[in-house]
Amino acid sequence: MDQTKFTLEEKEMPTSWYNILPDLPQPLPAVLHPGTGKSVTPDDLAPLFPMELIMQEFSPERYIEIPEELQAIYRTWRPTVLQRAYRLEKTLDTPAKIFFKYEGSSPAGSHKPNTAIAQAYYNKKEGIKRLTTETGAGQWGSALSLACMFFGLELKVYMVKVSYNQKPYRRIMMETWGATCVPSPSPDTKAGRDVLAENPESPGSLGLAISEAVEDAVGRDDSHYSLGSVLNHVLLHQTIIGLETKLQFEKAGLYPDIVVGCVGGGSNFGGMAIPFAKDKIDGTHKDLKIIAAEPESCPTMTKGLYAYDFGDVACMTPLMKMFTLGHNFMPPPVHAGGLRYHGMAPLNCHLLKLGLIEARAVPQMATFEAGVTFARSEGFISAPETNHAIRAGIDEALKCRETGEGKTILIAHSGHGHFDMAAYDAYLSNKLEDYQYPEDLVKKALDSLPQTPDQS
Ligand SMILES: *Cc1c(COP(=O)(O)O)cnc(C)c1O
Repeated sequence: MDQTKFTLEEKEMPTSWYNILPDLPQPLPAVLHPGTGKSVTPDDLAPLFPMELIMQEFSPERYIEIPEELQAIYRTWRPTVLQRAYRLEKTLDTPAKIFFKYEGSSPAGSHKPNTAIAQAYYNKKEGIKRLTTETGAGQWGSALSLACMFFGLELKVYMVKVSYNQKPYRRIMMETWGATCVPSPSPDTKAGRDVLAENPESPGSLGLAISEAVEDAVGRDDSHYSLGSVLNHVLLHQTIIGLETKLQFEKAGLYPDIVVGCVGGGSNFGGMAIPFAKDKIDGTHKDLKIIAAEPESCPTMTKGLYAYDFGDVACMTPLMKMFTLGHNFMPPPVHAGGLRYHGMAPLNCHLLKLGLIEARAVPQMATFEAGVTFARSEGFISAPETNHAIRAGIDEALKCRETGEGKTILIAHSGHGHFDMAAYDAYLSNKLEDYQYPEDLVKKALDSLPQTPDQS
């Protein structure tokens, strides 16, 4: 019998997250305070985040225990399945073995609850009553709504107004779990009111929604802010994906030759890649290839500058050393909304700089072609973001067809595409377009990088 699903018992679920900071061959560059240019201190971050998350951000511990109360909620849908894509292999006529680790089975439909639940938990433990956040297409907002529901926290989500109007279902999901969701710009914050005064019809942007959520949280003692990607502690929580996958491969008696994932802020990719990168660092699997796939129209890792930049358009965040297209850069409106980000998790950037991972940009049309091929062989309809990973995985499998090599390819499958059918409709009715890499816009945005002493 050809085994298709490689499952773990609940009792086999990892009980710690893996922190790569102590294993890095060179230390991660410091995060800087934009005012002083000095390294940020835990106290600088305390108005926004609970101390346990701040400590995780800088932790020297290799493994950080997952509290039992959190494990209990993870068990609602974890461990997730690792699956062999036999029919996709057949469709591609490749000798490669293709596997995918499926995070679409969480209640919110993506990997995002892995960190949302942890963030809600630590905030609750610190006595916080209410969280604020921003959301673009609604994936992060819905994941955090789910998490706040589990821990009895209030949540206010500032959702970019265009998406709020165009994609009502994610909003309804958030409301079903008990969160409040308002379109951004909103009259509830100064940042929102300023924009509305100038242009009442403003469609909003992710940067503005972040400014509103941060202003709201800083202005109230009972509230904190929550971020769904980019930061070390977010990637830490997501390592449960890679840790489970390694156990599943071990049980299958295999180890991947190639790992691919899609990158927006970098959390699902980091969650899968980081536990595998450990094996490259310690020399047990030096030859493993790890590939980050990003949109050609927002090519942060393949075309960006490695420099200190803000995480948001409003310049409110600390400065992070990362590959960036410039915090002012507004990416073209590709359907993979979760990948439209000017920066990238500093940890992933550091791994790229060290040569432990590589990056690849893929055009939108090719990602939907891959997603439809996947749906027509494996059945699962994937998020437009995930289709970038599937594209890279398929391309590697096609290379194996040329060379005759039976490599083992692992696709990090970040979520289902059930709320993205309009995007599939556009592709299937030939209305989808590719966007050129907006070189001029990036050049302009990179001209406005902040001045810091270490901009080399
Ligand atoms: C949000 C999202 C992404 C991109 O975010 P990362 O932090 O880069 O993982 C990718 N896939 C899905 C399904 C998402 O919801």
